[in-house]
Amino acid sequence: MKKITIAIDGYSSCGKSTMAKDLAREIGYVYVDSGAMYRTVTLYALDNHIIQDGHIDEERLKQEMKNIEISFQFNPERGRPDTYLNGTRVEDRIRTLEVSNHVSPIAALGFVREEMVRQQQRMGQQGGIIMDGRDIGTTVFPNAELKIFVTASAEIRAQRRFDELTAKGEQCDMQEILRNVEERDYIDTHRDISPLRQADDALVLDNSHLTIEEQKQWLIRAYEHAIHNS
Ligand code: C5P
Repeated sequence: MKKITIAIDGYSSCGKSTMAKDLAREIGYVYVDSGAMYRTVTLYALDNHIIQDGHIDEERLKQEMKNIEISFQFNPERGRPDTYLNGTRVEDRIRTLEVSNHVSPIAALGFVREEMVRQQQRMGQQGGIIMDGRDIGTTVFPNAELKIFVTASAEIRAQRRFDELTAKGEQCDMQEILRNVEERDYIDTHRDISPLRQADDALVLDNSHLTIEEQKQWLIRAYEHAIHNS
């Protein structure tokens, strides 16, 4: 069967990666979490004191981009790929609130986006890929056969993030998470380069009140429809 490209974009913490990973498993596609790549650059910048007191040393980061090698390795236990930075697994470290609090300004930098988009396009050359992020349907794969734009209210997204972090044993405060979700929405939609926006030909999925199962059914129908029409 023909292998298409599937782009899933949307706001922070609206369950894009869960749905993308489940669909990828179901239809045997490769799943790439593009947000993990921006998070990994952020982690590198934090670890190497390129971000200090909220200030980013852009010149240094630009020079050091060549030292940041991001890769993914499928983890059968989790049923999804783990993220690696220069050969070290950083999957848990990139999900902390500290990284979340710094990632959007890093992702707004032109030279960071250029490099990430280049790597993402290379990963998608063969088709048979599902990538989720903010600019996948608009910039990375503007010709994707299936584009989905996911949304849910900020409160519901913050609650999901809170549940996820608490389940991992991380101490967190609901108000701080809500603030982070709203702040990232603002930066992601207002940046100059590739701001988060719905592609004209994307299908919109508001999953505020959908169960995972209902969402799965919706997605499978959208995929079958796209395959049929491509
Ligand atoms: O998807 P996730 O919330 O993990 O992404 C983290 C951050 O990375 C987003 O808030 C956004 O600032 C940035 N991002 C982006 N473009 C993408 C994916 C993520 O700018 N394609």
